[in-house]
Amino acid sequence: MHYRAFWFSIASMLLAAAALPAAPTRPNILYIMADDHGYQALSCYGSKIIQTPNLDRLAKEGMRFDNCFCTNSICGPSRAVILTGKYSHLNGFLDNSNCVFDGSQPNVAKYLQAAGYQTAMIGKWHLVSDPTGFDYWNILPGQGAYYDPVLIEMGKRKKHEGYVTDIITDLTLDFLEKKRDPAKPFFVMYHHKAPHRNWQPGPKYKNLFDEVEIPEPETFNDDYAGRGAAARAQKMRMEDLEVPGDTKIAPPPGLEGAALKKWKYQRFIKDYLRCVASVDENVGRVLNYLDRTGLAKNTLVFYASDQGFYLGEHGWFDKRFMYEESLRMPLLVRWPGHVKPGSTSGDFAMNLDFAATFLDCAGLPVPADMQGRSLAPLLEGRTPADWRKSIYYRYYEFPGPHNVHKQFGVRNDRYKLICFNELNEWELYDLQKDPRELHSVYDDPDYKDVLGLMKAELQRLKDQYRDDDGVTGSRKKTSPAVKPQMQF
Ligand code: CA
Repeated sequence: MHYRAFWFSIASMLLAAAALPAAPTRPNILYIMADDHGYQALSCYGSKIIQTPNLDRLAKEGMRFDNCFCTNSICGPSRAVILTGKYSHLNGFLDNSNCVFDGSQPNVAKYLQAAGYQTAMIGKWHLVSDPTGFDYWNILPGQGAYYDPVLIEMGKRKKHEGYVTDIITDLTLDFLEKKRDPAKPFFVMYHHKAPHRNWQPGPKYKNLFDEVEIPEPETFNDDYAGRGAAARAQKMRMEDLEVPGDTKIAPPPGLEGAALKKWKYQRFIKDYLRCVASVDENVGRVLNYLDRTGLAKNTLVFYASDQGFYLGEHGWFDKRFMYEESLRMPLLVRWPGHVKPGSTSGDFAMNLDFAATFLDCAGLPVPADMQGRSLAPLLEGRTPADWRKSIYYRYYEFPGPHNVHKQFGVRNDRYKLICFNELNEWELYDLQKDPRELHSVYDDPDYKDVLGLMKAELQRLKDQYRDDDGVTGSRKKTSPAVKPQMQF
C-alpha cells in the first residue's frame, strides 16, 4: 500500500511536471551540512573568534536565517527530518541509540529523482540503513573517522588516506566533475563529519589559535540554580570531557577544579574551531568549482548544521536540550536571481522545511503529508500572512549519552515552554528578559496567563503535527515508521 501510494504520487507529480513548459532552468540543488556546527562559530553570525570567509560568502550573496530551529537536536533524527519533511514520531527515527531509518518511506531525494534529478549523497549519513533515492552515494559508516576514513561507496567499503573534511570534498568534486549527468539537474547532499566530537583538526589548522586564549562565554560558570533537575542531571559539562580522548593530551600536573575546567575548555574549543576552519576552506573549494564552471548561477546552495551546539555556554559541550544554543541552527541560502544578496530573515524556519523547499524550488508540488513548508517565499523576501509564529520541539534519547532527559516544548518569539515529561517538570522562559534562559518563571504568578497561552499553543502544535502518543518513550529498533498518508 505504502509503495503503491508512493508511486501513485510520483505519477501525479510527473503529470503535473508534464503540464509545465519545458523547464531547462530547473535549479541544481547543493545541500551542504556540517555536523554540530553551532551558529556561534560562524563570522557571519557574529563570531569575533573564528573567521569563516567562505561560509560568509553564502550570507553575503544570499540570505542568513536568524531563527532556524531543529525539531529534535541530535544527529540522526535531524537528518531523518531533513530527508522526509516529517517529525521524528512520523519518520520513525526518534533517537541515535535504538532506531534504524526506514528507507522504504518516501524522501525528498526519491521525489527529485523521480522528477528527473540526478541525486547523490556524499559524507556523513548516520541513519544506519543504506541511503535510498540516490543515484550515487558514498558515505561514512556511522560516525566515521577523522583520519584515513573508510567510506562505503554504493555498498562497497574503501579506505581513503587523508583528512575526512578534505576527502568528503574531493569526492563531492569528483561527482560533480566526472559522475554528473549534464542532461539532468543535480541534487547533491554534501555532508561533513566535522566539527563533531572528538574534534580532530586537519593538518593544516592544527596550530590555529595556539597563541591565543579563547574567551569563555558569559554563562560558562552557570550553577543551574534557576532550572529543574534536567539541567543539573546532564553529563555534558567541561568536567565530562575525557582525558585524553577529547583533550588529546593530559593536563599539567596538579591542575584541578576551576583551573582544570578552564584548561579543558581551551583544549575543546580550539580543536572545535580548527575543525570548522577546514569545513570553511572546503566549502570554498566547492563554491569556487561552481563559479568556475558557471553552475553557480543556477544552483540553489544551502548551508546548515544538523543542529546547534554548546560552545561552553552553561559550562557545556554537546546539544539535545531545547535551550537556544542547541535548538537553533545556522542556515545560509544562496540562489542567484531569487534571493537578494546580503538579506536576512527573522521568520521561524525549521529543518522540517528543507525537503518542501527543495521540491518547491524545483517546481514540484509538496506532498500533503510533508509537515514542513517551503521557505521559497521567505527567500524571495515575502512572509506569508499565515507563516508560523511558534515551533514545536521534541527530544527522546534518554537514557542515553550525556544523560539529557526526554523533553518537548514550544517556542514563540518571546517565550519558551519546556516539559521534561518523565520528570514531570516544566520550565518557562521569558526570552526577552532572560535570553540566556537562566531563570524559569514557570511558578511565577505574574506569568500565569502567559503559561496558559503557551500550554494551549503546545497542544495546538501537538495536534497539528499529529504527535498524539501522549508521553510514551522511544519506539524500538524493529518498529517501522508510521505509514505515510499520501494525499494527492
Ligand atoms: Ca550532529
